[in-house]
Amino acid sequence: MVGQYKENISQTSILDMLRAANGESPALSGVGRCACTYRDLLRLVELSAEKLRAAGVKPGNRIALVMPNGPENASAFLSIASACVCAPLNPAYRREEFEFYLADLGASAVVIESGMDSPARDAARALGIVTIDLLPSGVAAGLFDLAIPVEITRKSDHSVDADVAMLLHTSGTTSKPKIVPLTRANLLASGRNIHRALRLSPADRCLNVMPLFHIHGICGAFLSSLSAGGEVVCTPGFVAPSFFAWMDAFSPTWYTAVPTMHQAILSRSGANREVIARRPLRFIRSSSAALAPSLMAAMENAFGTPVIESYGMTEAAHQMASNELPPSKRKPGSVGRAAGPRVAIMNGQGALLGPGAIGEVVIRGDNVTRGYASNPAANEAAFCNGWLRTGDQGRMDDEGFLYLTGRLKELINRGGEKISPREIDEVLLEHPAVAQAVAFGIPDPALGEVVGAAIVLKGGAAATPRTIREFASLHLADFKVPQHVVVLDEIPKGPTGKIQRIGLAQRLGIESVA
Ligand code: AMP
Repeated sequence: MVGQYKENISQTSILDMLRAANGESPALSGVGRCACTYRDLLRLVELSAEKLRAAGVKPGNRIALVMPNGPENASAFLSIASACVCAPLNPAYRREEFEFYLADLGASAVVIESGMDSPARDAARALGIVTIDLLPSGVAAGLFDLAIPVEITRKSDHSVDADVAMLLHTSGTTSKPKIVPLTRANLLASGRNIHRALRLSPADRCLNVMPLFHIHGICGAFLSSLSAGGEVVCTPGFVAPSFFAWMDAFSPTWYTAVPTMHQAILSRSGANREVIARRPLRFIRSSSAALAPSLMAAMENAFGTPVIESYGMTEAAHQMASNELPPSKRKPGSVGRAAGPRVAIMNGQGALLGPGAIGEVVIRGDNVTRGYASNPAANEAAFCNGWLRTGDQGRMDDEGFLYLTGRLKELINRGGEKISPREIDEVLLEHPAVAQAVAFGIPDPALGEVVGAAIVLKGGAAATPRTIREFASLHLADFKVPQHVVVLDEIPKGPTGKIQRIGLAQRLGIESVA
């Protein structure tokens, strides 16, 4: 039975968002677990936030979260973000990456699932950061207890406004990853924008396969659902062979994913026609990387349901534009119309351009970050007349549908996972035989782009692409390790004499890795 959703409750805090739902309705569920209700979730978030405050945590303090995907990851995020600032981290990071992120965040503590053998523990110890173990209750999905060992008194070096709820690192263009602060108002606005674009209701159930350390999972699947009083099934992550079994077990009304996941699901759809017929989806959503019109058509055909492509970015708490559900239009190849923030096209001089003109996509709105943390240079470059530059290039048609035509920023988009090339360069330069290193994106038919690297060796030094890759994998999470390494005498320069990563694969004659 779906309960009454209180549309009229003004949602200005995470707790208000939970209170707007019917207390008896299911909020979170998980594989092999019974659902927890909104009432249970609200009580858990209130109690956990209270426990953190009692241990000395103050608004503005930063707590990192290292958890496997699942319902407790979702509920821990809400609890920490209610009390202070939550910084979810990718559990696949190596120790050095954790040390960098924990130090960069100025984390007061790190919450890790109890029993999880994560290098984050050693990294926290080395930095003198408190580790808080999270013990799942194991009964209803999402419920847990926090084992707080000592008073958390470590002061953050950074000053953060008390209304910030989350920090995420975004892949920088010419520098190290930047910290994106998102306020509670940003997150709530984003959840609401997505819930409205998809017309979500308490009757909806999202099958979440996206990681909960990425904005797509956090806002695209999770907060959008809670904002509408609906349910989220928190799976352990995307596991292609399990997808249809989960669909059959949970009967979701929708899911959201990146195109490479849709491709993997599509390749199994023929063998799962009965599940698709038995468990019809209301729609499928795609975001975070370009969706090929042919894949969109094949998915719509296989599932008999609309595929809605949206355009998201961490700095916008995810959604900026979206195609619409029928009877409104969706245009294959377009990322849709502004869906929450204002979206415009700007030229290099800061003037807004009309339909058809190509320029940089810029955004402004209540879901958009106020600016990167402690990074005036990045903010100077990112904002123009109050608009945030996305680093994406595009044009709008005369109905307001946005088409992305290229990328001005240097980040590598590997199937939706964003990688900062500078971070790869820095690791490769640590190799004793490497004199110069430049990481870049290589076009890939399945993932859109994969990581490549060109290196120049020191005089007399020897290394092979394989030993370089092995070295990189000691210091970088697997998805960042260059798949293709070329050893050159000199790195080719662009027309201005500078190394240009964009288009480097083409200049080196590398069409794809395969
Ligand atoms: P992230 O901050 O990880 O969400 O990455 C944001 C970037 O992903 C955007 O600036 C775009 O470059 C890219 N992106 C997001 N959605 C799409 C889409 N539908 N089509 C093409 N690129 C996308």
